[in-house]
Amino acid sequence: MPYAYNALEPRIDTRTMMIHHNGHYATYVENLNKYLADKPQLQNLTLEELIVYHSNDDEIRHNAGGVYNHQLFFGGMRPGMNQIVVGLSGRLLQNINRDFGSLENFKMQFGNAAAAVFGSGYAWLAVDSRGKLHIVQTANQDTPLTLSMKPLLNLDVWEHAYYLKYTNHRTDYINNYFALIDWVRVGERLIQGV
Ligand code: MN
Repeated sequence: MPYAYNALEPRIDTRTMMIHHNGHYATYVENLNKYLADKPQLQNLTLEELIVYHSNDDEIRHNAGGVYNHQLFFGGMRPGMNQIVVGLSGRLLQNINRDFGSLENFKMQFGNAAAAVFGSGYAWLAVDSRGKLHIVQTANQDTPLTLSMKPLLNLDVWEHAYYLKYTNHRTDYINNYFALIDWVRVGERLIQGV
């Protein structure tokens, strides 16, 4: 974890973060390690390579996806500073304005996509191989990597990510999430390319 379990209070509560990281995420790590233990030919692959080249293997799709998605999710947030947008600038801001019209439009479209994920899954900001930004929804632990896109940020909308604090009010969780995005990190992910 790049910050303390209580660092995202009050927007994401300490207990949810602890269960999410030490329970859900840790289980994906454990299951992936178990599955790879007797498969030395897969052990040198990166998480991204596992996901892209072995997406037809459900064990890898679920568990490597679960590890990758949670690392990206936890790593894409930073403690709130009572400002809605911190660190969003340069190419990332230009491309958001180019592809979504404005930051407000992006937030509206991303929020709608996150609210509309049916069941368990994620909403994503991802960039395609031509540099165009997309909002993507995925189910379960799927990722835009298998759509030939590089993920820039993702919002976990599995109920375990918000239910303790927000119960069935997913939209309130989504609105609070916007203030937690680490835009500096997201901008770095964009610059690193596909
Ligand atoms: Mn999760």
